[in-house]
Amino acid sequence: MALLVLSVFPVLFYPDQPYAQITPLLAAAMVLGLSLYCATRFMRLIEEAHDKISTLSAHDDLTGLPNRRWFFDRLDEEVDRAFRYGNSLSMIMIDIDHFKRVNDSFGHPLGDMALAEVSRLLSANVRTSDIVARYGGEEFVVLLPETLADQAVLVAEKLRMVVEVNDISLEGPQVKVTISCGVADLRSVKNCKGSTRDAFVLAADNTMHRAKKNGRNQVLSFVPKSDRQIPLV
Ligand code: GH3
Ligand code: MG
Ligand code: MG
Repeated sequence: MALLVLSVFPVLFYPDQPYAQITPLLAAAMVLGLSLYCATRFMRLIEEAHDKISTLSAHDDLTGLPNRRWFFDRLDEEVDRAFRYGNSLSMIMIDIDHFKRVNDSFGHPLGDMALAEVSRLLSANVRTSDIVARYGGEEFVVLLPETLADQAVLVAEKLRMVVEVNDISLEGPQVKVTISCGVADLRSVKNCKGSTRDAFVLAADNTMHRAKKNGRNQVLSFVPKSDRQIPLV
């Protein structure tokens, strides 16, 4: 503003000088350039802040993994894509076994550390195209695009073994945990009533709970009702 006011002085006091007409124009151009620069910078700062807020709202603080809300959005997209292109899609529901005991025996901070380490192990042992999320407290979910149940069971078994053999405490007392996994593939729930997405999640979750009842530290695969054999008595 001051620049613009000053630039008018030569027009008022030295109107005959050739530079008197150019000075206000130069000053106006400078002010315009400066304003454009400030506006662009401001917009960039707003975009960065917006990106930061969306990352924070989609991710879990403790593990850095995407949270359940983000996972469900992504699941909808992947289910749509799988149906549209006829691709396979599998899911592994994972729950840490007897995790309450870890907290009770070693304290909550070490429990937190164990959760973070399990997350790291899961993420490090799947493909980059697979999606790992924190589903709940000590529950995780892995979504495997273009993967059939048989292959997903192999992935789940690998994850189960990796967690079992690793000492998950980075320092202090040795802490080992195991996981139970339920695997389901989208095709096996295609004929279920209601929302396919909900049936898909439920299939993986129920199968994980079957793995718990069956003794924990194991992987089970969902079997649709129509394929279940009636036991011979
Ligand atoms: P199960 O094998 O049947 O799954 O037994 P569990 O003890 O793992 O299951 P339960 O549901 O009884 O307990 C889950 C425990 O996970 C209790 C809860 O305090 C702990 N937990 C959940 N979220 C967190 C967290 O963010 N940090 C810590 N340290 N513990 C957590
Ligand atoms: Mg649980
Ligand atoms: Mg548990």
